[in-house]
Amino acid sequence: MTDRHTVTEFFHCRAQAGQSFDGRFALAGSTPHYAPDRTFDTRHIRLELALDFARQSLTGTATVTLQAIQEGAQAMVFDAVDFQNLRVRSGPTSLRFDYDRRKLTLHWPKPIRRGTSVEVTIGYRVTKPKLGLHFIGPDRHYPTKPVQAWTQGEDEYNRYWFPCHDAPQERATTETILTVPQRFTAVSNGALVRQTHNRSARTRTFHWKQNVPHSPYLVSLAVGEFTKLEDRWKNVPVLYFCQPGREADAQRAFGKTPKMIDFFSRRLGVPYAYAKYSQVAAVDFIYGGMENTSSTTQTALTLHDERAHLDFSSDPLVAHELAHQWFGDLVTCKDWSHAWLNESFATYFEALFKEYDMGPDEFMYELRGNAEAYFDEDRERYRRPLVTRFYKNTNDLFDRHLYEKGSLILHMIRRQLGDADWWRSMNLYLKRHRTQNVETLDLINAIQDATGKNLRPFFDQWVYKGGHPEYKVRFWWDARVKKAFVRVLQTQGVNEETPLFSMPVTFAFTVRGQEKRFTEKVDKKDQLLSFALLAAPELVLVDPGHVILKKIDILKPESMWIYQLTQDPHVLGRIDAAKALATFGSPTAVQALRQALVKEKFWGVQSSIAGALGRSGSSAAMEALLDGLRQVSNPKVRRAIYEALGNYPSPRVLSEARAQYESEKSYFAEAEAIRTLGRLRDPSLLGLFKSLLLRESWNDVIRCAAIDAIASLHIAESVGLLKEYSRYGHHPNARMTAIRRLGALGRGREDIQAHLVSLLKDPYLLVQIAVVKTLGSFADERVTEALLKYTQGDLDGRLKRAAEEAVRKIRKGMDPEFPQEKGKDRGAKR
Ligand SMILES: [Zn+2]
Repeated sequence: MTDRHTVTEFFHCRAQAGQSFDGRFALAGSTPHYAPDRTFDTRHIRLELALDFARQSLTGTATVTLQAIQEGAQAMVFDAVDFQNLRVRSGPTSLRFDYDRRKLTLHWPKPIRRGTSVEVTIGYRVTKPKLGLHFIGPDRHYPTKPVQAWTQGEDEYNRYWFPCHDAPQERATTETILTVPQRFTAVSNGALVRQTHNRSARTRTFHWKQNVPHSPYLVSLAVGEFTKLEDRWKNVPVLYFCQPGREADAQRAFGKTPKMIDFFSRRLGVPYAYAKYSQVAAVDFIYGGMENTSSTTQTALTLHDERAHLDFSSDPLVAHELAHQWFGDLVTCKDWSHAWLNESFATYFEALFKEYDMGPDEFMYELRGNAEAYFDEDRERYRRPLVTRFYKNTNDLFDRHLYEKGSLILHMIRRQLGDADWWRSMNLYLKRHRTQNVETLDLINAIQDATGKNLRPFFDQWVYKGGHPEYKVRFWWDARVKKAFVRVLQTQGVNEETPLFSMPVTFAFTVRGQEKRFTEKVDKKDQLLSFALLAAPELVLVDPGHVILKKIDILKPESMWIYQLTQDPHVLGRIDAAKALATFGSPTAVQALRQALVKEKFWGVQSSIAGALGRSGSSAAMEALLDGLRQVSNPKVRRAIYEALGNYPSPRVLSEARAQYESEKSYFAEAEAIRTLGRLRDPSLLGLFKSLLLRESWNDVIRCAAIDAIASLHIAESVGLLKEYSRYGHHPNARMTAIRRLGALGRGREDIQAHLVSLLKDPYLLVQIAVVKTLGSFADERVTEALLKYTQGDLDGRLKRAAEEAVRKIRKGMDPEFPQEKGKDRGAKR
C-alpha cells in the first residue's frame, strides 16, 4: 500500500511539511498489540457475491474451510462488521451463532479434534459498508464520473464486506465468484477460472481463484466498465484495466510492468508467483496503490497524458506495488508491528528498479528524497523505533518511518553485506518463508544463514530503536607529521530511544587528484582519528558513498565546497556542496553555483543548485537563475528555477515568468512559473490567475497553481475564490489545494472556519483528511468538538490519526509554522 505517489503530493509536498506535533508517536489510549490467538486455521475461502450498485449493497455467501488448531475447539470467531440477513450452516445443517455487529461466533455442535477440517457457509448482506468496499458513481456535481466498485482491505477493512479472521497471519487460498451487471468487468485475485454471461438476467459472472495462500487483507474486488489491455511476462498474463478512452494513458502508466516483473524475478531468484498480474485504475481510490495479491489497485490519477509524461512517471508507484507481490504478499508480516517487512521493502525495491532502469544517480537521488521525508517526520512529528507494538490504530504505523526510513535501513544492510550477499540473503529469506508469515527475527536469521554475518547489533540500533546518528566533524592537516586529523562527535541526544550508533564510516581524502579511502568504526561520543597522507587534501569526504542515514555538520572552506561541487563523482556530494555554498553567499560561491547550474549533468543536482541560489538572496544569484532559465531545458530543473525565483520579487522576474510560463513544455514547469508569479504579489495579476482557473489540464495541475497564486496575493477577493474551488464538484486536487490555502488565510476568520467544518462531512476521504489537517493548524478551541467526532469509530485510520493529532495540537496551542511557506530549508537540524 502506498500514498507516496498520490499525484497531489508532487506539487503539495512542501505545503504539507509543516505538520507540527508534540513529539509523541503513541496516541493516548495506545496499547501493546500482538497477533491474536487462533483456534482454527482458515484453509480456503470461497466467496459468491452479487453487487447491487443502485442500493450500494453486496449479497454474499462465504464458504470457509477451517482446520482446528486447538484440541476440542468448538467456537469459531469471524470479524464481520454490520452484516445483515445472516444465515449459517454446515452442509445442510444450520449452525447456532451469536452476532454483535462486529464479531460473528459460530458454535459447532460438538468439540472438534485438532487437525480436523470442517466447512461452514455464511450467507449475508452488507449495505453501504462504512469501510472496505467503496461504491463510486456519478452525481449532480460529477455527472461524468464512471460507476465503479473497489475494495481496500489493508489494514483491517475487509471485515466490512466478508467474514474472515482478519489478521495478516491467517493465510488461505481464495475464490471470488462475482456477479455484476453485464456491462461490467470484475477483477479479483488469482486466475480467471471462467466467465459466464446470463443474458436473461443481464449479468456476467467472473470466477477468480487464488491458489497461493494469502492474507485476508489482500483479498480484493474491482468492478467497473473497463477496457482490458493485455501484456505478458513469460507465460504470465499482465493485464491493465482502465475506463474506456484512457487506454493510451494506461499503457503509458503501466507499460514497464513486464520489465519490472522480470527484474525482480531474476534478481531475487524467486520468479513471480501468481497466475496473472493485473492493475486496475480505480476512480477516487483512497491510496496511490494497493498490492492485492496478483491484483493491484492503482489510483486512476496516475494515468497520464503525453505532456505529463515529460516529467511525471508512474514507474515508482507500479514498482512499489509490484515489489509487494514478493514482500507483503508471498511473505507477509506476522502482525502489523513488523509491517516494515512489507513497506520498507516495497519502498526500497521501488528504488532498486529505478537503479536498474535509470542508473545510480536517479537511485541515490530517490534515497535522498526518502531520507528527507523521514527527517521531516522525525523533526516535526515524532521519533519511534521501526518495530513497535505500542500504538492505538494499526494505521498509525504506516508513516515515514515505515516506508522511507526502513528503505534507508535496507540500503545500509545491502552496503554492509555487499551485493552478492545481499541478494543471496533476499533469496534465502523468500524461499524459506514463501507463503508464510514472518517477523523481523526471520530476516536476521536468513541473512545470517545466507552469509554468516550476524546483523543483530545493527538491528538493535536501527530497527529496535529510533533516531539516527548526528555527526559533528572537524578536521585539520598537520604538515609536520603529514597526517589529517578528524574529530567525530555524535551529538544526538542519547537516551532509551536513541542509541549511540556504532557504524563503519568511510573517510575519503583527495590528494593531488588521487582519492584515498579509509574505513573506521565510529562508535563513541567523541573520537579522534588520524590518517597519514602525502600532502594536505584538496577534498575531504565523510561517507563518500552516502550509505549511512545521518545528519552531518562538517566545516569545510569555501574552496573545498566548490571543488566538491564540480569534482565529487557522487550526486549527493555535489548536492551537499550546493547547499553548503548557499550559506556562504559570496560572489565566488554564487559564481560557482551559476556555472554548475548549466554545466551539471544530473537534473537533481541542478535543482538543488537552483534551490541554493534561491536562498542566497543576492542579485547575482537572481541573475544566475535567470541565466539558467535561458539555458536549461530539463523541465524538472526549470520547475526548481521558477521556485527559486519566487524569492526574488522584482520586475525582471515578473516579466520573465510572465513571458515564459505559457511556452513551458511541461505542466509542472508551467505551474511552478504561475506559482512564482503569485509569490511576487502583484495584485494586477489577479485577472490572469482567474483566467488560468478556467484552464483544463491533466489532474488540474494548472488550476492548482492558479489557486496557489491567488492565495499568495493575500487580497480580499482570494478568500471567495478559494472557498469556491474547495467545494464538492471540483477536481479533488483543486479542492485540496484550496483547502490548504484557506488554512493560511483562515486563522481567526469564523466564516472560513465554518466553511471548513462543513467540509468535514465530505464524501471523499482525502478531502476530509486535508480539512482535518488544516483545521488543526488554526489553534482554535472551537473546532475541537467537530474534530473529536473523527477520532474514533468506523473511520479510515489516517482520518482518525489526523483528527487526533489536530485536536492535540489545538489543545496544546502549538502551531509555529503551518502552513509552511516555500523556500524554507527543509534540511534544518532537529
Ligand atoms: Zn506499500
